[in-house]
Amino acid sequence: MIQLEEALALAGKTPISPGTTLLPVEEALGRVLAEAIYADRDAPPFHRATMDGYACRQEDLAGALTVLESIPAGRMPSRKVGKGQCSKIMTGGVVPEGANCVIMQEYVETGPDGKISFTASETDKNIDPRGQDLKEGDLLLAKGTMLAPGHLGIISSTGKVEVKVSKQLIIGILATGSELVEPGMLPLGAQIRNSNSHQLSGQVRRAGHIPKNMRIVEDDAEAMAERITGAMEQLDLLILTGGASVGELDLVPGVLEKLGFHLEFQRVAMQPGKPVSFAHRRGKICFGLSGNPVSSFVQFEVLVRPYLETCTGAIPLNKRICIPLEKEYRRHRADRQFFLPVNFTDSGSCEPVKYHGSGHLHALANAIGFAEIPAGQTVIEKGDKVHVRLI
Ligand code: AMP
Ligand code: MG
Repeated sequence: MIQLEEALALAGKTPISPGTTLLPVEEALGRVLAEAIYADRDAPPFHRATMDGYACRQEDLAGALTVLESIPAGRMPSRKVGKGQCSKIMTGGVVPEGANCVIMQEYVETGPDGKISFTASETDKNIDPRGQDLKEGDLLLAKGTMLAPGHLGIISSTGKVEVKVSKQLIIGILATGSELVEPGMLPLGAQIRNSNSHQLSGQVRRAGHIPKNMRIVEDDAEAMAERITGAMEQLDLLILTGGASVGELDLVPGVLEKLGFHLEFQRVAMQPGKPVSFAHRRGKICFGLSGNPVSSFVQFEVLVRPYLETCTGAIPLNKRICIPLEKEYRRHRADRQFFLPVNFTDSGSCEPVKYHGSGHLHALANAIGFAEIPAGQTVIEKGDKVHVRLI
């Protein structure tokens, strides 16, 4: 049995490289940026009026001002503002040369001669200076950024219509277990619905890759070997669930070895999710996850997802928060790192959801994340802070 960090390091030594592709910016949501994005011009690109009003010289505010022209947003000023002069300007307009402030329309009176005068006692500048937000050439987004909607706006603001992103990996999901039936079938007696495949599908998609549901294979070494061999052709990576432990019918690690895969590990010191294997053969990867739905969920989040981030060069999103626990929490055994499903409370802390163990899939319905409790820790006092990995 190895620690989670060790498992991550071992898996990370055999990354697969999906390559890169160009995508229209509007299609790049959720993808991993494969180039750095730099500012192509200053922002704002000119001295910009932040108010509707009159651009003038602050030192002239005591007297009446002659209005030279009107400057809507999107039109260059044609006149320089000199002593005793001003130009009407709209929000977003280019502040004309010579002016050093914009007085608000609300604080202006127009005289019978058409001249304007300032009626307030003081004014802000009401100008965003050129380059205030950033300078041409500034780094805006690092390579590896997982693209969120705001990032798409930033990329567009540099004039790009296409962006280089990491290609998606094709990830097969194969559920093992003779007890399994697909959700569309009626389970009889001892049968169980295959929920893991659909859960993992969502996790793969959320990680930015393409899930391929390879459905169910029974607990039979030959059938498994055949299905794995067939599946690997069309995949970059295969995730198996079930049959990962040390029971008589836990065939997955043995089958993988027989097929010539190199097994890097089979057990990780985490709860839930101890039986989990990582294997590779000629550039193809297999993860063998537990059959228990909560275990499989956690194993994906803490092992598979970080591995995929290594493959694409993604900068991991920091999805961990540090938050107090509402009530004291105790556990009997503390030999492994523990992932406890929790929810927020109204008072800004978190509390465990009803959770009966790794087979209790429905605990995830109300969980916002897993509190990570280190090995060796049996008690968390009320109000102590825990790290919660959001899901
Ligand atoms: P295993 O890891 O194969 O020993 O399975 C552990 C538990 O998870 C058993 O109760 C299985 O019935 C259940 N299980 C296995 N695979 C799935 C699946 N694909 N969907 C839902 N439950 C599963
Ligand atoms: Mg099984």
